[in-house]
Amino acid sequence: MGTESNIKLLDENGLRLDGRNEMELRPIKIETNVLERADGSAFIEWGGNKIIVSVYGPREAYPKHTQDIDKAVIKARYNMAAFSVDERKRPGPDRRSVEISKVISEALSSAVMVEQFPRTQVDVFIEVIQADAGTRIAGLTAASVALAAAGIPMRDMVVGCTAGKIEGKIVLDLSKEEDNFGQADLPMAVLSRSGEVVLVQMDGDLSVEEFNQATDMILDATKRIAQIQRDALVARYSVETQGGE
Ligand code: ADP
Repeated sequence: MGTESNIKLLDENGLRLDGRNEMELRPIKIETNVLERADGSAFIEWGGNKIIVSVYGPREAYPKHTQDIDKAVIKARYNMAAFSVDERKRPGPDRRSVEISKVISEALSSAVMVEQFPRTQVDVFIEVIQADAGTRIAGLTAASVALAAAGIPMRDMVVGCTAGKIEGKIVLDLSKEEDNFGQADLPMAVLSRSGEVVLVQMDGDLSVEEFNQATDMILDATKRIAQIQRDALVARYSVETQGGE
C-alpha cells in the first residue's frame, strides 16, 4: 500500500479511473497448455497482468531431505521478470517473492491430493511477465488451472481475487493505481467447491465491517472466476478431442 496522495481514484459518479464500478472485475482470460515441454501450463491475462505458469511432476523430490514420506511437496516459485514493471526490477528472488512463493505453495497443497504421491515434488513456476497489481492471486488462480491441465489429481480448484479500500470505499480487484494510492489491499483465495479459505493477506487497515464487505465481494467474484477456469480446461479438452479425430 502506497502513501495516500491527492490522486483522485473515484470520479463524481463513484466510478474508478478505468471506468469500473466497485463490484467489477478487470477482464480475465485463461489459456491452457501454452508450453510444449511442461506437464501442464497456463497463461493468464488479468487486467494488465500477464503471467505464465508451468507445472512439472510429480517427480522424485530432490534434494532428498526435502522428501516427505507421507505426501508430495508442492514447490511453487513466483518470479517477476525484470521487464515486468515500469522501472526495471532487480532480477532474482527477494523477500517479497520468497513470501509469495510460500503462501502460493501452501494454498495449492490444500487442493492437490498430495497424499497420493509420497516422496515426490510438484514444481510450479509462476513467471510474471507484465505486472499490474494482484499478481499473486492471478498467478495462484492460473497455477491451479496448470495443475489440472497437467492431470494432477486435485480435490478442488484454488481461485482467488483481491478487494481493497480506496477513498473510504470497498472495491473489488484493485488496479495498480488503486493498489499504490489506496488505503487497504486484501488478497484472498478459496477452494472453489468447499469454500475453504486457503490464502488471506492484508496490507493497510480495514474495520471488521469493511473486512466482511470485502470478503463477501471476493467470494462472489471467485464464483465468476472459477467459471473462467473451468471454461479454459474444457476448451483444452475439446481442442484435444478435435485434434485426435
Ligand atoms: P500483488 O502483485 O500480488 O498485488 P503487491 O501488492 O506486492 O503484490 O504488488 C502490487 C504491484 O506492485 C505488483 O503487481 C507490481 O505491479 C508492483 N510491484 C511489486 N513489486 C515491485 C517491484 N519490485 N518493482 C516495481 N513494481 C513492483
